[in-house]
Amino acid sequence: MTIREALKYAADKLKESSNSYNLDALILLKFVLNKNEVFILSNPEVLIKESDLNKFDNLINKRKEGYPIAYITHHKEFYGFDFYVDESVLIPRPETELLVDTAIKYSKKFDHPKIVDIGTGSGCVAITLSKLLNLKIFASDISSKALKIAKKNAKHLDAQLEFICSDKLLWLDKGVDIIVSNPPYIKKNDYNNLQKEIKYEPKNALIADKNGTAVIGDLIKESKTKCSYLIVEIGYDQEKFVKSFDQFKELIYDYSYLPRVAVFDFTQI
Ligand code: GLN
Repeated sequence: MTIREALKYAADKLKESSNSYNLDALILLKFVLNKNEVFILSNPEVLIKESDLNKFDNLINKRKEGYPIAYITHHKEFYGFDFYVDESVLIPRPETELLVDTAIKYSKKFDHPKIVDIGTGSGCVAITLSKLLNLKIFASDISSKALKIAKKNAKHLDAQLEFICSDKLLWLDKGVDIIVSNPPYIKKNDYNNLQKEIKYEPKNALIADKNGTAVIGDLIKESKTKCSYLIVEIGYDQEKFVKSFDQFKELIYDYSYLPRVAVFDFTQI
């Protein structure tokens, strides 16, 4: 089978299960052949080895079942940086870049801000902040498996990070300027209705409680005495919840005009 035929074969097979079937076919073929896009697209008549075709077919079948592309290739771009990901961490989402932008905006209020990322996962938020602000960032996660990935990413991207394996803010003293977090905020009952891709990601990074607000609520309560500003990513239906707190300061909407990032100001406490 040639490259052209393989791309068509994969796209046809993936049509029903993926919106991005052409792109998926291209990414998987690039991955299997270990070639870049230019090579693939400019060599449609090159024949593919039997062993590579078998590998390609296995990955197409995996993808057909909803297995995320990023877990197959182990790469996901976030804020222009390349992150390693596997099933122990959430795949970074483009909306989460708004969390980074908001943290950068608030960091300008301080000379050498102490910034802490709670639930760092792949490390995408903490590492990006460290790179853009040229600053050491503290990053915690309850999962030691996730921290291993975050450490790998920090090393690869040459970011200054200090890692702590702990739940929420238990480990933290006062004197923090900004706490950022993309906590689990999906309602238990909503989880089953989500796309099948999401089912391969770590549940504890996604699901909160019945209302979806338990972890965010804990973060607000625990941050009060420890930091000046708390900046959290929230779910599309949590606007009312976050606005019900006296210390609520600002809400940032994403590109689909859904509420995405909430800021709390504890400087008056
Ligand atoms: N901070 C990571 C991210 O934004 C992980 C978040 C999480 O695991 N809930 O992708």
